[in-house]
Amino acid sequence: MQSATTKLRVFSGIQPSGGLHLGNYLGAIRNWVRNQDKYDNIFCIVDLHTITVPQDPAALRENTLDLAAVYLASGIKREQAMFVQSHIPAHAELAWILECFIPMGWLERMTQFKEKSGRERERSSAGLFAYPALMAADILLHDVDEVPVGADQSQHVELARDVAVRFNGRYGPTFVVPKAVNPGFTRRLRELSDPCAKMGKSNGNEAGVLFLLDSAEVARRKVFRAVTDSGREVAYDPVGRPGVANLLEILAGCLDETPTALARSFSSHRQLKEAVADTVIATVRPIQTRYAELRKDDGTVHAILRQGAAQAREQTQQKVREVRARLGLLP
Ligand code: ATP
Ligand code: MG
Repeated sequence: MQSATTKLRVFSGIQPSGGLHLGNYLGAIRNWVRNQDKYDNIFCIVDLHTITVPQDPAALRENTLDLAAVYLASGIKREQAMFVQSHIPAHAELAWILECFIPMGWLERMTQFKEKSGRERERSSAGLFAYPALMAADILLHDVDEVPVGADQSQHVELARDVAVRFNGRYGPTFVVPKAVNPGFTRRLRELSDPCAKMGKSNGNEAGVLFLLDSAEVARRKVFRAVTDSGREVAYDPVGRPGVANLLEILAGCLDETPTALARSFSSHRQLKEAVADTVIATVRPIQTRYAELRKDDGTVHAILRQGAAQAREQTQQKVREVRARLGLLP
């Protein structure tokens, strides 16, 4: 049950469900990069989560390579354990076992399912409903201590925590009990065109999402079209003025400052938007340059992913054997 090193182990995952956006970067990836030497890291491309909603096969393959390249372009070191979830069958095996263990009521409380299924609940896949069981498997399989996530994923990490406690109580100590770690005010960036909706890869609203790979012109246009609130002065008030607050969080996130302090530097929405556009463009430019280099050479990306999977496979097999024995499945 102990991590192999004295460093805490963290699990970081993103779905290859479309272009990465600034929320993924400021809410997740950038912190992973900054903390990578402090932790024993697992960087996963969680493709089995992506197929909970229909995907075009060619796009999924492309998005998977893209995500690996963005991880590397953002500064994740090549020697880190980085792999594709579906390359490690133990994730799916443990997910099934946990699906048989987690009460339906726990899953019914998950807000992401309600948001993503919307009015299509009856037509949504069983996988979308069971998504948190797979995420619990991702985390518990690797004896993870901490899971750095945006606010939207905290509820799922809580569920993984409850699963670990309950399983350990029933079958004896098996899983490390994980905890969620959120990144402060960048934990939930919102859409530019709807500052109450979470910025997301697959929301289907491209105009409101600042993609990491957007050209400078596109990014600038999106920022200038961002919905701001009535009132002309610039103040940080996430509840009363969510549009301006979102822009201030984006700017402060990029500059490592605080939204409240920054608000005082601007006397108009236009001035704020100019600063946001310039800063976002400067933040993503080096990532875009490295990304373009990496995507010229898919062989290297494939090799890094294969190597990562080989590293992870051994440890997960041991964990699954332990779980199987606990349940009484014949060795
Ligand atoms: P999808 O729309 O397909 O669910 P997503 O943008 O929500 O995509 P995920 O792959 O589900 O991205 O999540 C990857 C990581 O990015 C998670 O840690 C998640 O909490 C974080 N994240 C996602 N959206 C935001 C956001 N708007 N602000 C901050 N963090 C975010
Ligand atoms: Mg998501």
